[in-house]
Amino acid sequence: EMDTQAWQVLDRAHYLHPFTDHASLRQTGSRVAVRGEGVYVWDTEGERIIDGLSGLGCVNVGYGRPELVKAAADQMSELSYCQSFFKTTHRSAVTLAEKLTSMLPDSLNHVFFQSSGSEANETAVRLLRRYWNLVGKPQKRVIIARELAYHGSTHMAASLSGITPMHFAGGDLPLPTVTHIKTPYQYRNGFGMDPEAFGILAASWLEERILEIGADNVAAFYAEPAQSAGGAICPPMSYWPEIQRIGRKYDVLLVVDEVVMGFGRTGKWFGRDFYGIVPDIMQVGKGLTSGYLPLSATIISDRVADVLIEQGGEWAHGYTYSGHPACCAVALENIRILEEEGIVENAGKVLAPYFKAKLETFADHPLIGDVRSVGLMGGLEIVKNKATREAYDYEAHIGDHCSAEALKRGLAFRANGDTMSLMPPLVITTEQLDTVFDIAREALDATAKHFGVI
Ligand code: PMP
Repeated sequence: EMDTQAWQVLDRAHYLHPFTDHASLRQTGSRVAVRGEGVYVWDTEGERIIDGLSGLGCVNVGYGRPELVKAAADQMSELSYCQSFFKTTHRSAVTLAEKLTSMLPDSLNHVFFQSSGSEANETAVRLLRRYWNLVGKPQKRVIIARELAYHGSTHMAASLSGITPMHFAGGDLPLPTVTHIKTPYQYRNGFGMDPEAFGILAASWLEERILEIGADNVAAFYAEPAQSAGGAICPPMSYWPEIQRIGRKYDVLLVVDEVVMGFGRTGKWFGRDFYGIVPDIMQVGKGLTSGYLPLSATIISDRVADVLIEQGGEWAHGYTYSGHPACCAVALENIRILEEEGIVENAGKVLAPYFKAKLETFADHPLIGDVRSVGLMGGLEIVKNKATREAYDYEAHIGDHCSAEALKRGLAFRANGDTMSLMPPLVITTEQLDTVFDIAREALDATAKHFGVI
């Protein structure tokens, strides 16, 4: 039997972690997770961690659901793999494609499967290229994304991401056909304005960029409904209708990345339902299977799909695991659980108002400059000076410090830059939310003491 230290030695020697400062990890060592149930994960020391992040928006129905295990096992026993090239299909993928389109507006009728959100974003860009070429406007190539965004780690998805230069370091990123505009981040980009007027202003930044580049050169606008990346950047309700109007005016397609927002994060099934968006292409991942197996879907409007199908010839794009039977079976079962247990509805009607009220109690914390939320996604932005909104130096890593203080106390609480983010599983209870916020406050207090603020 290996103890924690023995696992940490192996981890340190051989396992590179995603999005991790390995030098710092060498000093602290990893927690070794062994089991999960509901909103909790236990480590090799028997310590319990509340997952305040749901694996960044994955584990919506919670850990350890036997129905999902059974769905995967049954599918694997019956048909473990299906090569969907060569004119073969299978029942789980077709059923899931139909199910997804039935949950969305009439114009969204076609589904392409991949394993990850990054791959779904690659598919979306391939579709944009194919579409504009086939309709005779090959010069429509520039994609307008947003600052602080995250759309994945493959080359195109990373280019679409507008996060820190660190993520582009040492390569040829971002690719030249991508440009970024400012986000509807009122605290930094429109402080003190009336929120709805700010939403219109933030949308006008899209029009401004389209005019600079020339509408004939712009393929699409690319965004999350509310931006989890950058720290829960939630637009005012006026933003999306105006974006949609501008997109139509200049014939710029709208690609909506619902990898995090999809399947209930906003308290509605999709972020598009919450904000009233009708996308041309939309990606879901993570919450599609509650993270039990890797699966993402690119959902495509008739406008784009009809051209591809009727005039496109061979669609030379796909993955070995596109529409993997077990992943699709798990997604179907996950959607059944969400529906039958009323999880999304409960998240919107019961949990979201409670979550928001609790978050807002942090507004007077000496470290917190801004409090933001939609549904069960929240952000508490740490600042050095509440009056001037001055941020801490990046090198201070104050968010990471707070995150470490929370983990010590049994809460996974993420630092998104200096914004502390919470995205608990949608099955969390109000009592469990109380614990989450108690630990969050202790972690912030400990951080404030460490930085000499209190
Ligand atoms: N889009 C968004 C909005 C995301 O947050 C992420 C991952 N955090 C991705 C895409 C990429 O998904 P994946 O990690 O599955 O490739």
